Amino acid sequence: MPIDRCNKLLPLLEKADAERSVFAVQYMGHREIPLYKFVLASDWEFFHNDILRNGVNTVCEVIRENRPCHLYLDMDAHGKTREEVLQSWECLRPLFEKALRQKVKDDKIDIIILDSSSDSKGSLHIILKCSSHIFTNNVHCGAFVNLIGEVASGSLESKSAFEYVDLAVYSKNRMMRMWGSTKVGQDRFLKWEGVDFNFNTWKSTRICPTHSTLTKIELQDKYFQSEQKLSFVASWAPPFMNAIVDYLTRVLHDQFGTGSIHEIICVVPETLTYTVNTDIKTCLIADKTHKTNHMYFVVHIMRGTYRYSCRSSGCQWKNRQARLKEIENKNNRRQEAVRIDKVTQVTRFPKEIQKNIDEWLNVPLSAKPV
Ligand SMILES: [Zn+2]
Repeated sequence: MPIDRCNKLLPLLEKADAERSVFAVQYMGHREIPLYKFVLASDWEFFHNDILRNGVNTVCEVIRENRPCHLYLDMDAHGKTREEVLQSWECLRPLFEKALRQKVKDDKIDIIILDSSSDSKGSLHIILKCSSHIFTNNVHCGAFVNLIGEVASGSLESKSAFEYVDLAVYSKNRMMRMWGSTKVGQDRFLKWEGVDFNFNTWKSTRICPTHSTLTKIELQDKYFQSEQKLSFVASWAPPFMNAIVDYLTRVLHDQFGTGSIHEIICVVPETLTYTVNTDIKTCLIADKTHKTNHMYFVVHIMRGTYRYSCRSSGCQWKNRQARLKEIENKNNRRQEAVRIDKVTQVTRFPKEIQKNIDEWLNVPLSAKPV
């Protein structure tokens, strides 16, 4: 089995199958910006080649969208100790076991607790594996965890324990750090107490299935939260805006390995120009991570294009020009200008989205709710 490598996630996800899955490896990019590269490999090859031989220790597994996965939890508590978070988990554990038991009957339920707590933060990854069942996908995991949250709100103790459960980790193609790995540039490795690090134990911590004979656990539709998480500040957006948001979210994931879009604002209604705000602070224009400013996309529906931009005033066009002038060496100035132009260039949406736009633009004008 060959190992494929790519700095984009999607091309590898398309090739992933029962034998090979996608791992994300974080590395320190230019000027201390953490970025991801992606690896498509079998568990055996990835473990022996990348982890053991090359010492790669900044690995996440990619929980593929719409693919089965085991139940996982991320519990984080700033200002709390590892013991306090563990205690919260012990308080919630019976609720999880009881609810799981209803779905999986006589299955053996293994619970793996991985720990990356520091002095200032308690942080656990908990993976619950049933011997003959698996969740349909991570959206079902999220719905299940939400349900437990409702049960937990029945008592003060479990309610406050549940507050440490991060509900944002069930997003599309989510990356979850793996046992033995840390964020790049940090020294906070995810540990599994008392367990030898070898291929079999490592494989046993995978959230993605490692064999395909498991029955799927599905939750009924009524337990799902509404898909609509975006707040449209503009009162109206075209019907295919969700497809655009999905696409731009994938662009973020390819670029930064993470990121979501939380707001869409119509800035020029006449030309259907929107700003699409993200939660990404890493900036490719300034080549650094901003403290408060986020990057965003400018979307031109009429032109079928988008471009990358940044809220930081220094990254706005006019100020960029001023900053460029400060670079004394002519060659360096030109190089920097080319680099920034490349980052901020206007890009066409792919054909599927353009088709949506075309079809919609061709509906009679009177039918357009603009
Ligand atoms: Zn910026």
